[in-house]
Amino acid sequence: MKILVTGGAGFIGSNLVRTLVQQKGESVVNLDKLSYAGKLESLADLAGHPNYHFEQVDLCDPAALQTVFSKHPPDAVMHLAAESHVDRSIDGPGEFIQSNIVGTFNLLQASLAYWQALPERESGESGPTQSSFRFLHVSTDEVYGSLATDAPGFSESTRYDPHSPYSASKAASDHLVRAWSHTYGLPVLVTNCSNNYGPYQFPEKLVPVVIMQCLRGEPIPVYGQGENIRDWLYVSDQVEALYTVLTKGRVGETYNIGGNNERQNIELVKMICGLMDEMAPADSIQTSNFKLQTSGKRPKSFQDLITFVKDRPGHDLRYAIDASKIRDELGWEPQEDYESSFRKTVQWYLENQEWCRQVLLPVSSENVGTSNVQC
Ligand code: NAD
Repeated sequence: MKILVTGGAGFIGSNLVRTLVQQKGESVVNLDKLSYAGKLESLADLAGHPNYHFEQVDLCDPAALQTVFSKHPPDAVMHLAAESHVDRSIDGPGEFIQSNIVGTFNLLQASLAYWQALPERESGESGPTQSSFRFLHVSTDEVYGSLATDAPGFSESTRYDPHSPYSASKAASDHLVRAWSHTYGLPVLVTNCSNNYGPYQFPEKLVPVVIMQCLRGEPIPVYGQGENIRDWLYVSDQVEALYTVLTKGRVGETYNIGGNNERQNIELVKMICGLMDEMAPADSIQTSNFKLQTSGKRPKSFQDLITFVKDRPGHDLRYAIDASKIRDELGWEPQEDYESSFRKTVQWYLENQEWCRQVLLPVSSENVGTSNVQC
């Protein structure tokens, strides 16, 4: 297949593109505008690969989108591009409306025009047809709102109740995608997934922020009392789930993806600190690339750096996923063990400090690491 992946230079996108090209033998066109969170450094190992092409395009440029469809006619679209950081959506929602809602609308229009021009079914010629084409929209569990601690996890029929500008913009995009299916017949699939972690996550999100702050020897900010609960999924499991839904999912359906790993934020942060105590070299702070202006010293335990900060406005208490539909229908289940995959993640960040330094270079230190923690 030739798959058009949007947002392929981001965290999940880069892991997805690498797997599609290197493990699944697919051909990928990566369409990404390279926002502050989109980095070609994350795909440096694919540069020059015959099955990988990059197009620097903004979803908000409809003409450029159309050109990509003409230049690289895809068998499928996997739509990941979005503004993704909740705290940034609170400080500046405009970008989220543009990329997540208007951008998705533009991509749907370009996909629809392309799909309508495809032959209805196979006629002996190879290439996509209207019946083989798929549009997979990648979304979040945050569209469902907040759960009480004893409530069952979100299912595909849970009512939408988004609370942040980020989740509202993703909810809007989910509705647009379903409307293009119902109204125009575009063959879509939607996934809603819980929190991901793993290599190449931009160091403004909770897991890499904790690791970076340990390496800096600086306070680890935790919202409120750290009691908010999230479900955690290793990124390779998300990638496998997306590929499973694309290749086996029923058109028009939604699949929730989760790790069955609910943890309070404070529990998670303490666990990462424990891994850092064990895995970070004794001189990690002195030799770290991350020293900004730090005078930090390695504490006896990295947990000593945990600092509770004023809660995020409208902070959802709990997200949890009921992933029984994708398991029962498509046979997907997470493969990665919680603790060992966090160990792998910590190891990756310890070994890839240069990647972190590079991707943080243009981003002001005021915006990263000290107050912004998404989960
Ligand atoms: P990310 O912020 O790491 O990457 C987003 C990518 O989209 C970047 O490469 C960026 O340059 C690109 N992009 C943004 N706006 C664009 C535009 N207008 N035109 C073209 N490219 C644009 O995000 P991520 O964490 O990899 O998330 C990917 C997708 O998965 C998002 O849609 C997000 O809502 C969804 N999701 C993420 C998680 C998670 O835990 N990270 C969980 C569930 C769902």
